[in-house]
Amino acid sequence: MVKTRVWSCDCGTVAAEVTTHLRSAVVCYCRYCRGYARYLSHEAILDPLGGTHLELTVPDQARVTAGQSALKVIRLSRNGPYRWFAGCCETPFANVLAQSALPYAGIVTIGLKDYETSGFEYRSFRRLATGELPAASGSPVVLGFGIMRRLIATRLRGGHKHSDFFDRAGKPAREPMRLSEEERARFLSDLPMEA
Ligand SMILES: [Zn+2]
Ligand SMILES: [Zn+2]
Repeated sequence: MVKTRVWSCDCGTVAAEVTTHLRSAVVCYCRYCRGYARYLSHEAILDPLGGTHLELTVPDQARVTAGQSALKVIRLSRNGPYRWFAGCCETPFANVLAQSALPYAGIVTIGLKDYETSGFEYRSFRRLATGELPAASGSPVVLGFGIMRRLIATRLRGGHKHSDFFDRAGKPAREPMRLSEEERARFLSDLPMEA
């Protein structure tokens, strides 16, 4: 089931239209997602076990409709995703894989209007959850299969070449920020890493 919803930041400056598909929900417990919520002073988006709720889609199916100039992007680790957020009020928006040739974006669901999870969620970095997780409801195989299908469709229609996140040359549409050493210590250093 395909659904298009409005995403908007806390203050309403940045808005987007996001198309999502059935069985594309992910909850991520990794240290970077947690550190990112801290960095943006949005720890309230984390669920009680430290998870960030995302809907995976392809970048050209998250179309920015307002406030594009307020968007900012940061990269927290060398190979990690580009994390786009609304600079006006620091609402996290989309975690976009670094290679435009592998088009894939995790939309942070906190900004999606009328969002309800289907209950079928793949939990990523489960071992880093801060407590006991419910039994797995999502399968990486189902998730991966759906994503692969959409990646191929996106590439066929050339969608990876014109999203709001990359320029024509496949570079991020804006220069990504990095954490300073001091910020790294403040936001990340005490969070667990995957063994
Ligand atoms: Zn805002
Ligand atoms: Zn994560």
